[in-house]
Amino acid sequence: MTPRLRPGYTFRMTTTTSGTPTPPAESPGIVSSLNETRLFPPSAAFTTAANVSDPGVYERAAADPQAFWAEWAGKLDWISPWRTVCEWTPPHAKWFVGGKLNISANCLDRHITSARRNKAAIIFEGEPGDSRVLTYQDLWREVNQFAGALKGLGIRKGDRVTIYLPMIPEAAIAMLACARIGAIHTVVFGGFSGDSLRERINDSGSRLLITADGGWRRGNVVPLKQAADEALANNSCPTIENVVVVNRAGDPRHVPMTEDRDHWWHRLLEHAPRLTAPEVMDAEDPLYILYTSGSTGKPKGILHTSGGYLTQALATTQWTFDLKDEDVYWCTADVGWVTGHSYVVYGPLAAGATVLMYEGAPDWPQRDRFWQIIEKYGVSVFYTAPTAIRAFMKWGTEHLEKHDLSSLRLLGSVGEPINPEAWMWYHRHVGGENCPIVDTWWQTETGSHMITPLPGIVATKPGSATRPFPGIAADVVDEAGESVPPGGGGFLVLRKPWPGMLRTIWQDDDRYQKTYWSKFGDKNLYFAGDGARRDENGYFWLLGRVDDVMLVAGHNISTMEVESALVDHPSVAEAAVIGRTHEIKGQAVAAFVTVKEGIRQTSELAGELKDHVAKKLGVICRPDDILFSAELPKTRSGKIMRRLLRDIAEGRALGDTTTLADPSVVAGLKEKYESSEG
Ligand code: ATP
Ligand code: MG
Repeated sequence: MTPRLRPGYTFRMTTTTSGTPTPPAESPGIVSSLNETRLFPPSAAFTTAANVSDPGVYERAAADPQAFWAEWAGKLDWISPWRTVCEWTPPHAKWFVGGKLNISANCLDRHITSARRNKAAIIFEGEPGDSRVLTYQDLWREVNQFAGALKGLGIRKGDRVTIYLPMIPEAAIAMLACARIGAIHTVVFGGFSGDSLRERINDSGSRLLITADGGWRRGNVVPLKQAADEALANNSCPTIENVVVVNRAGDPRHVPMTEDRDHWWHRLLEHAPRLTAPEVMDAEDPLYILYTSGSTGKPKGILHTSGGYLTQALATTQWTFDLKDEDVYWCTADVGWVTGHSYVVYGPLAAGATVLMYEGAPDWPQRDRFWQIIEKYGVSVFYTAPTAIRAFMKWGTEHLEKHDLSSLRLLGSVGEPINPEAWMWYHRHVGGENCPIVDTWWQTETGSHMITPLPGIVATKPGSATRPFPGIAADVVDEAGESVPPGGGGFLVLRKPWPGMLRTIWQDDDRYQKTYWSKFGDKNLYFAGDGARRDENGYFWLLGRVDDVMLVAGHNISTMEVESALVDHPSVAEAAVIGRTHEIKGQAVAAFVTVKEGIRQTSELAGELKDHVAKKLGVICRPDDILFSAELPKTRSGKIMRRLLRDIAEGRALGDTTTLADPSVVAGLKEKYESSEG
């Protein structure tokens, strides 16, 4: 779905100096007055030891992006070399044309012939406190066996396999086993319901489902097998022939198994061959389909292929995270999201890293669980989402203070724009003012990081994802697709194909072309759907989805900036801002605010917050309404769903709520909003 744009939406920037926005000259522009000047260069010690420290890489990659990417592809093991680096027939790209490789061999086999063989590949911590370490040799062995088991169930190259598992090592093993035999995996987040699972199984036409009896979450078992049975009931997924079940959560005797369809994972392994040769895959053979979280409409099956995808995943893992052999790297994303694909499994394992995997919730059994894990395993690189950081801010610093976090040396953020104050909090309290922060902008569709600091080179600014990764042609353009000059705001686009880009939407190439490539006519620009501005130093500032931008008295105002101004207030932990219809102004700013623990929600505070925003951003951004709320409606991947807040503020029936993490939050808010009006 191409996002709807508000009338006169041009994103031309009007900067403010006095706190009052300058009226736009001809057409409404995005009001951007968050003036962030703090600059954090990497320490000399960090730069000296960094995997990349020569700023010249940017120019060299820009001069010849194909040569840049070919150099990275050369770091992979190829069965036979490619003929052409990139074939671009807009809007379809092929990378490393003619090359043959196997992804699982690149993540495993090549490490077990070196000293990495006995290195921990995955360190697993279960929510109940159990733990398991798989060396590269262990992981290689398990993947070989499970790949053999898949073949035994009749799965062949090109078949689709749905994976519906908790965050346990078997999730990575299942993905790599599919990659080994050329099956296309499609991971469905374990927090999704049976209905969502069914929809994705049927769209992908999967022959096999891999699930578990359950997984642990806040001390309870999430009944995955039960949800899977619901999805499959009454032959509603006719393509599924077999179901493999991991025994994670309880006594296997209590799990109802359907004869001839359901098989225990551990039983299959008993009879599986020990070795399964990696299938010879074309660089452009599909690796996986991943459905986007669906915060905007029907889920899209994003298709990723092999050679280019792994090339960019490896390059970004090595350079963005500066990963070294001795690092303990923890990305908190679930494998159900693209971050879990590229930065829990494929990127770090291709790099031979040690990956920490945690099954459960950050506040179980206590709110210090993440910090306890970092201390326990000596985590050195930590990658999480702004939604988690804002939850930590809300809970207070006493939970961190109980633990030694001195092993940390680099922090990352992904998923939403990070508010400058959340960035500062992360920097101070988690990083001890000693760790570079990489704020990584990218999407399911892009496969890998696109805009992010290189931590040994780029001085960071709180709230900015800084510069495009070398070899990436990101730009900010106006409605006509023309570059906006420095200081300006507009639509974020990509001007050139990149190795990890999606190749299409599964079985819907039309939608692929319309959604991503049609907005700027025949200019062949990839339209990301996000707004951004670029400052005088060429740094990118992500302003949120263009769908979410407000139009107040003729000014386009970024929800992200008003939210950041609110989070800047010492009492506020998190805020969601929307524009609601207003007779005079067109739209009025309405803010839903979560305060920090121990802060009272008074009307005085509401007034203070309105003034605070007016002072930071100008009176035009002053919220008309502030509603306090203990929680905000979020998708299952933790992103604020503003569309539902608009429904509430405008008294409409709520739109599709199936991708919400907790539908009761929005129901409660609706009630509260309606009573506050009356
Ligand atoms: P759907 O496309 O189904 O609505 P989604 O966009 O939430 O779901 P993802 O591909 O996981 O699914 O998220 C990509 C989006 O997340 C980006 O387009 C952007 O809006 C936001 N995003 C991710 N990382 C960042 C970041 N570092 N800064 C700002 N925004 C980010
Ligand atoms: Mg998206």
